[in-house]
Amino acid sequence: MKKSNEESIKKAGLPETDTVRLAGAKRIGIMGGTFDPIHNGHLAAAESARAELRLDVVLFIPAGNPVFKQGKPLTPGALRFEMTRLATASNPAFHVSRIELDREGVTYTVDTLRALRSACPGTQLFFITGADAFADVLRWREASALFKLAAFVVAGRPGTDRKQLKEVIAKVRAMNGRIKMLDCPAVDISSSSLRGRAASGLPVRYLTPDNVAGFIEEHRLYLKERRNEHVPADEILKILRNTQSAKRFEHTKSVAVEARRLAALYGADEENAYLAGILHDAARGLPDDKLLSKARRYGVEINGVAAKRPSLIHGLVGAEMARHEFGVRNQDVLNAVMYHTTGRPGMSKLEKVVLVADYIEPTRPDREDVISVRAFAETDLDGAVIRALTEKIAFNRDNSLHPLSQQAYEYMVDTIKSEKEDT
Ligand code: ATP
Ligand code: MG
Repeated sequence: MKKSNEESIKKAGLPETDTVRLAGAKRIGIMGGTFDPIHNGHLAAAESARAELRLDVVLFIPAGNPVFKQGKPLTPGALRFEMTRLATASNPAFHVSRIELDREGVTYTVDTLRALRSACPGTQLFFITGADAFADVLRWREASALFKLAAFVVAGRPGTDRKQLKEVIAKVRAMNGRIKMLDCPAVDISSSSLRGRAASGLPVRYLTPDNVAGFIEEHRLYLKERRNEHVPADEILKILRNTQSAKRFEHTKSVAVEARRLAALYGADEENAYLAGILHDAARGLPDDKLLSKARRYGVEINGVAAKRPSLIHGLVGAEMARHEFGVRNQDVLNAVMYHTTGRPGMSKLEKVVLVADYIEPTRPDREDVISVRAFAETDLDGAVIRALTEKIAFNRDNSLHPLSQQAYEYMVDTIKSEKEDT
């Protein structure tokens, strides 16, 4: 009996490890999911199903290329598999299958159930889902075939559309589908919420088993910097539209476009220039008390002239907002935001581009100094920076000049002088 079961499992193309694990099983639970990452909600539902339905084994099947999640970034299958394996290792009835990960193309539950059905004739299959997923089941490929292949075991899940669920249950029963509602408290945990927590540096421990939490930390999964997932530039723009005055917002857009143009002209990264342009005044226009409280929260030092003129730190605070609130990790972009008003010695090309764009963008009035920096900007980026710094120094002489501007000016004049001497 056991032997023939093993042979048919092999024929169905199941991985070897599954073959061994399923041999002899009579009642098989199946829990499909992306498991990105697996969490205690999955595990509690699976264990309830095992106990209530006296399952011999629960197969966890991480999806390869799930049809519903296309276009969204997905953690590589090998890592999702490993997390699922770690999470289930302590339960002798749990087993993780590679069947969907090893299959090419889009994954459909109906294909997986057919493979199991033919691999394990004479067994009963129970497909375990959360109520949210089940409420959608009539849209799955070959829904009516699904109900013949397996009974459905449904775990409650907060946030499920109850009315829709009720209707679906009635329809499935009318199609002779078998449904068992589990007696298990609804667990308000989702993979998305875990990803969000990990991305913000919040703990996921006790929401998923310890070894999974450790794995996520060790592999630095879900961190924004890993995927370079900052809020897209145009989304940031939408947010700033609500926080900046109409005039400043026009200026912001104009700096971004001008910075991108100059970047193209001087061979800096155009996308970074556009992003830095959008971000450069993110903290400008905040009332002083808000600016100072953000500065304290993000550890920006307030001393020297900045204590008298808090607006001088709007670049530094803006860069911290870019990092913490918009997930920007590129240090050159952050520096360009930080030093766009003051400048500093040893500025990168991007920093120069943003400083100049801020000075000359087309909505600035056609003052003499602006016209002059504009003229430099077409052929000589360093000349434009020096000209802009000269103006800043002159303009702020009896007000409060930020020492970085003077240092930046001297540095640029010195390097240009020594470059000339070298040639
Ligand atoms: P995401 O937030 O990325 O959608 P998820 O938490 O919903 O992830 P999936 O891998 O999409 O997890 O879900 C796989 C299966 O597990 C689905 O049937 C889903 O309904 C079920 N499930 C997920 N979380 C829970 C939970 N907290 N309680 C019961 N079932 C759950
Ligand atoms: Mg889901």
